Amino acid sequence: MAIEHTFSILKPDATRRNLTGAVNAVIEEAGLRVVAQKRIHLTKAQAEFFYGIHRERPFFGELVGTMTAEPVVVQVLAGENAVAKYREIMGATNPANADEGTIRKRFALSVGENTAHGSDSLDNAKLEIAQFFSGNEIVG
Ligand code: ADP
Ligand code: MG
Repeated sequence: MAIEHTFSILKPDATRRNLTGAVNAVIEEAGLRVVAQKRIHLTKAQAEFFYGIHRERPFFGELVGTMTAEPVVVQVLAGENAVAKYREIMGATNPANADEGTIRKRFALSVGENTAHGSDSLDNAKLEIAQFFSGNEIVG
C-alpha cells in the first residue's frame, strides 16, 4: 500500500488543556508518523478559507470563532493509508458517537470542541497541507 500524507489540526481545546502530546501518542501508536508540525494562531481569514465548504452551515461562525480563539498545532501525518487511518483513529465528528479508544472519544469536549481535524480525502489532504506547509517543511 502506498504511503500517504494527511493533514491534521490539534484544535484549541487540545492546546488549552495541554493534550497535544497525548494526542500525538495516539497518532504514533497507530503507526502514523508526524513529518511536519507547528504551533500557530489561525487568523479569521485562514479559518474561513480552511472551512470554506461549511460557509453556509449554521455552525460556521461558531466554528471559525472556536478555531481562532486560541493556538492550534497543524501537522502533516504520513503512513500507509494515512487519510482513512487518521479518520478512523479520530473517531466520529460528534464525540458522543465516537468509538471507544478514538481521539475524540477520549479527549473531545463536544462536537464544536472535538480535539482534532483530519482530511477527508487525499485530494483535500493535498490542498490543506499546501495551505499551511511548504515542501521543505515536510521531512519524512
Ligand atoms: P469532521 O471534522 O469530522 O470532518 P465536518 O467536516 O462535518 O466534521 O465539520 C467540521 C467541524 O465543524 C467539526 O469537526 C466540528 O468541530 C464542527 N461542527 C460540525 N458540525 C457541527 C455542529 N452541528 N455544531 C457545532 N460544530 C460543528
Ligand atoms: Mg471535515
